Amino acid sequence: MSDCIFCKIVSWEIPSIKLREDENFIALLDIFPNTKGQAIVFPKKHYESNIANLDNDIISNLMIASNKVINLLRKGLNVDRVGIIIEGMQVNHIHVRLYPFFGSIGFENGIDAGPKADVLELQKLADEILHSTNR
Ligand SMILES: [Zn+2]
Repeated sequence: MSDCIFCKIVSWEIPSIKLREDENFIALLDIFPNTKGQAIVFPKKHYESNIANLDNDIISNLMIASNKVINLLRKGLNVDRVGIIIEGMQVNHIHVRLYPFFGSIGFENGIDAGPKADVLELQKLADEILHSTNR
């Protein structure tokens, strides 16, 4: 699409700092990073960013491409874990954001964990979510 920033990166109309590129995907360093090494991975072909509307093979291939970049970040930045987010916002071209996690991460506390939730409230929320999907 001519007005899509990611399509313009693919066609070199907009410069970027690429980490990885193959026939179908590009990975670049985010120009507005929240953390060092924050990266974006997206297909060269334009697909909308609402993952619910995409074919499974597009999603699968995006995950495989992202995992290659995750391993680059792990080795290059000496981090164990890289967070992955597909929020579908900002640019309507499917993309994954990768966030290297620096420092130690415990499974007991997680990263950026909030206060412990009330189990009954969680069950109520689960019921609400499951009930609405059965409509
Ligand atoms: Zn695009």
